[in-house]
Amino acid sequence: MNHQLPDLRYSYDAYEPYIDTKTMEIHHQKHHGGYVSKLNAALEEHPQLQNKSIEELMANLSTLPDSLQTAVRNNGGGHLNHSLFWSILKKNQGSGPKYDLAFEIKRSFTTFENFQEEFSKTAMGRFGSGWAWLVIQDDDRLSVMSTPNQDTPYSQGLRVLMGLDVWEHAYYLNYQNRKADYIEAWWDVVDWEEVAERYDQLK
Ligand code: MN
Repeated sequence: MNHQLPDLRYSYDAYEPYIDTKTMEIHHQKHHGGYVSKLNAALEEHPQLQNKSIEELMANLSTLPDSLQTAVRNNGGGHLNHSLFWSILKKNQGSGPKYDLAFEIKRSFTTFENFQEEFSKTAMGRFGSGWAWLVIQDDDRLSVMSTPNQDTPYSQGLRVLMGLDVWEHAYYLNYQNRKADYIEAWWDVVDWEEVAERYDQLK
């Protein structure tokens, strides 16, 4: 069973003006698509691993054959990270976290605004390519973290609630060097309903 590029449940222009159409199209088809085909190519000679889900592969990186680890870390991580990224986008009209997630964000960060500031700062502070994340730690508190490249919190055994892609390919066409503007705009397209749903399933 090959890994597949997931279809998006919205059109590429759905998040204008926050994320432009061309960026969405190239990002999904070429970047994410590239990770999927390279992951499948890397697994070609490892039939015993082909029925493992992407989550399973990434959570058990260190058990993979040495010759495979880098390819799966980069391309499997790229596949999993982007699959999550697409699934939590929706124009939110300025709404915020809901239900138990809203409660837990306040418990872990005092206020939603504090959380937002910490998340944006972490995304801004990622030098080079990478991601900012909201995760559930082992002690069930929420925390914000960042990973370089396509490294994924799944490989650290963490439960992932949301992630922001801060690779230049995610924003450069429209925002050029204005990474802070991209991060700010992204808050308008966080699907809080979906993130709250993930929290309910993973807590
Ligand atoms: Mn990306």
